[in-house]
Amino acid sequence: MIRRFFAYYRPYRRLFLLDFGCAIIAGLLELAFPIAVNVFVDDLLPGGKWNLVVWASLGLVVLYVLSAVLTYIVNYWGHMLGINIETDMRHKLFAHIQKLSFRFFDNTKTGHLIGRLTNDMNMIGEMAHHGPEDLFIAVMTLAGSFGLMLAINWQLALLTFVIVPAILWVVVYFNQKMTKAIHQLFQDIGDFNARIEDSVGGIRVVKAFSNEAHEEAQFAVSNGRFRLTKLASYKLIARNGSISYVMMRLVTVFVMVCGTWFVIRGRISYGEFIGFLLLTNVFFRPIEKINAIVESYPQGFAGFKRYTELLDTEPDVEDAPDAVMMKPFEREIRYQNVTFGYDGEKKVLNQVDLVIRKGETIAFVGPSGAGKTTLCSLLPRFYEVESGSIRIDGVDIRKVTQDSLRSQIGIVQQDVFLFAGTIRENILYGKLGASEEEVWEAARRAKLDEFIRAQELGMDTVIGERGVKLSGGQKQRLAIARMFLKNPPILILDEATSALDTETELAIQQSLAELSHGRTTLVIAHRLATIKEADRIVVVTDQGIAEQGRHQELVAAGGVYSRLHRAQFGA
Ligand code: ADP
Ligand code: MG
Repeated sequence: MIRRFFAYYRPYRRLFLLDFGCAIIAGLLELAFPIAVNVFVDDLLPGGKWNLVVWASLGLVVLYVLSAVLTYIVNYWGHMLGINIETDMRHKLFAHIQKLSFRFFDNTKTGHLIGRLTNDMNMIGEMAHHGPEDLFIAVMTLAGSFGLMLAINWQLALLTFVIVPAILWVVVYFNQKMTKAIHQLFQDIGDFNARIEDSVGGIRVVKAFSNEAHEEAQFAVSNGRFRLTKLASYKLIARNGSISYVMMRLVTVFVMVCGTWFVIRGRISYGEFIGFLLLTNVFFRPIEKINAIVESYPQGFAGFKRYTELLDTEPDVEDAPDAVMMKPFEREIRYQNVTFGYDGEKKVLNQVDLVIRKGETIAFVGPSGAGKTTLCSLLPRFYEVESGSIRIDGVDIRKVTQDSLRSQIGIVQQDVFLFAGTIRENILYGKLGASEEEVWEAARRAKLDEFIRAQELGMDTVIGERGVKLSGGQKQRLAIARMFLKNPPILILDEATSALDTETELAIQQSLAELSHGRTTLVIAHRLATIKEADRIVVVTDQGIAEQGRHQELVAAGGVYSRLHRAQFGA
């Protein structure tokens, strides 16, 4: 874990050394001041040697300025180190999240992921900067000041040192408690990120049901829990602060009493006495700072732990090491003995066999929940088959790269997901880097060009989050335009028009028909009118594929399909 953490410093070795070096020198300078005072009181003060006093003061000024410069470097460049590491980690994590599979996102709340990428990373960045440096300086100043105290008077030094084990115990104890509290804090932050994401994302539903008060109450619960956890951790911080403060002051008083006694007995000078007292302050400073350190360490470590956990989550679907590019689709798609279930136990598909020839339009019908969408999601390898195989032109889809496989498959769904940018950006998503003419051509074929021209900003019209500023039909046309641009040989239309009114549906159907022209198309539809023309209709039920054939054949056969047909159109 520690080694893994330090690996992130590697690209910034120089920055680290600069920061570390400056911090060490600044720490050493801290030690110089008590010594200077010691010399001042013992040697300069009694003799009234003014020229020496002036020189000594000038020397001190130089030291202070140097110390200020060093502190600047540590504060700025040191934080740069932390920020760089944080940026690298965030980038790596985002890239990793992009690689994860559908199954992961099925089971993960977006808000939690956002928490990991924002809050956790801040904590790690802080620790990456302050962590090693503060720890090292703390140890160094402790050792340094103790050494000097020993040199002044070893008996007095040992008396002071007695407190160290007690304070260490407080620190360790406190650290453990704090780590627990921070874990909870992160969890809570994730929880209410998820809440916000859900409530705001679903705000239209919230309002439609007039459930604002309910949402608010739910949020108040998360918010309240966060408050309690945060309070608990600050209570810990406050308690630790006070306990260590009082312990240290007791020692100071102790040193004053003993020191006075030592002075009276002539065992140390006034200067040494004052110098020693100042050194106890330097000695205690890292311990006092431990509150701050102890606050950021558990946070950073908790964050880093969560970070590595997520980074170690393997995608469910991965390219085989020897995966090759898929060749352009030529002949057929073959499902062979395909079995699949989402949770391992309940099988959605059981030993399904199916052959789809190039150029065919094949329609899937059947009751909701029968597994039509699932059947189609297996083709682009959104999920992995449990047993059996899917082959395209005889090549198992697990043997080719996901990129090359998915570049040949286009999907248009019922709920189109559009990004919060402009119309152009959304169409371009089908083929990044397409020319302006290509984009317009795609819009024209999707019959969206007139609408775009009618907009004041044309292609640059912003469509709102998830395309809220568009009608259902327009969204669907945008999705179709995107698909024209992508131009894949295999097309999946999953209830693409189910959410539309009849008139719009008819219009969109025409565009879809044009889109599927010359492609191998898998259509899922619950309105049978839309699939009468399909080359083949496959009826999917809970028991698997019940029957398949052309419309007329299936009606004549008097099976499931004819019953569905009768239900929709009457006898
Ligand atoms: P259809 O498209 O025929 O209506 P689906 O393929 O969407 O049916 O769903 C088949 C079954 O799988 C349903 O019982 C559904 O609850 C379940 N299911 C669908 N998607 C998921 C998922 N992402 N995780 C777990 N179960 C799912
Ligand atoms: Mg479905």
